[in-house]
Amino acid sequence: MTKYALEIKHLNKTYRNGVIALKDINLSVEDGDIFAFLGPNGAGKSTVIGIITTLVNITSGEVKVYGKDIMQHPEITKQMIGVVPQEYNLNQFIPIIETMVNIGGYFGLSKKQALSKTQELFEDLGIWHKRESTPRELSGGMKRRLMIARALIHNPKLLILDEPTAGVDTELRLTMWDFFKKINNDGVTIILTTHYLEEAERLCKNLSIIHHGEVVQNSPMVDIMSSSRKHTYIVRTDSKITDKNIFEENINIIDDKSCELTVDNKTSITEIITKFNQSNINVIDILSKRNKLEELFIELTQK
Ligand code: ADP
Repeated sequence: MTKYALEIKHLNKTYRNGVIALKDINLSVEDGDIFAFLGPNGAGKSTVIGIITTLVNITSGEVKVYGKDIMQHPEITKQMIGVVPQEYNLNQFIPIIETMVNIGGYFGLSKKQALSKTQELFEDLGIWHKRESTPRELSGGMKRRLMIARALIHNPKLLILDEPTAGVDTELRLTMWDFFKKINNDGVTIILTTHYLEEAERLCKNLSIIHHGEVVQNSPMVDIMSSSRKHTYIVRTDSKITDKNIFEENINIIDDKSCELTVDNKTSITEIITKFNQSNINVIDILSKRNKLEELFIELTQK
């Protein structure tokens, strides 16, 4: 058994109108991973997802899901993949439990099997009480949970989540994160695209950033978190900062009692507080302005 849920080698995609969407993409996602697939709008993420799910044709290159080539074995690979697309694409007029049974049937599940799996998923996702409702009667957050349940009905080994928490409130987002962690613990490999870099940071073990159709970063999340870069804090103080030279590093005064401080990553918060104290200024609050992943993302994708 291969240790890779997904292997992409030398993948190129040029659309019919001449747009070169992907240029020699190479990516591997290990079995059991939660993998962040990041990039600004237009970077090529949806094209890659479209290719993995055989909705978009490959121009050249190779894509394997659990060792099976998606072009040679589309039926097998489709059975192994669950996808939650960005856009709602639900039948608006039938009760959601029926949608689940229908989709289950498409994947070869009996009605009984589909109902039992639906109950498990709907209960985990907190929408079992809505099973007789149609999607029109559901809130945005409930529709999103339904799409997640639908993607999991056939027990896929690989789940692709395209912006799963976009437009979802904070409380539901946290619940969804717990759900993703749970199914990952149960053995589902997850690929996640998101604009919430905090989400990627919290959930993902490895990540890839694409920009203009090229992979510009591919590494474990811990490497990014521990990489030696600059870090920016917002510091609130009890008195005015008059001496900008407390730090050799960059300090921007925001107002009388707050400043933005950019320091080397190795500088600890205790060191920052001590330096202020040495100038007879007490630190009331210190907040991280941007996380490291955000800093890297901006650095790599602003070209
Ligand atoms: P992302 O999902 O990262 O926002 P996409 O994969 O949607 O990026 O788009 C990558 C590039 O391919 C963009 O320049 C986009 O305009 C172009 N593109 C996407 N789909 C099509 C299509 N069906 N026909 C032509 N160009 C497309």
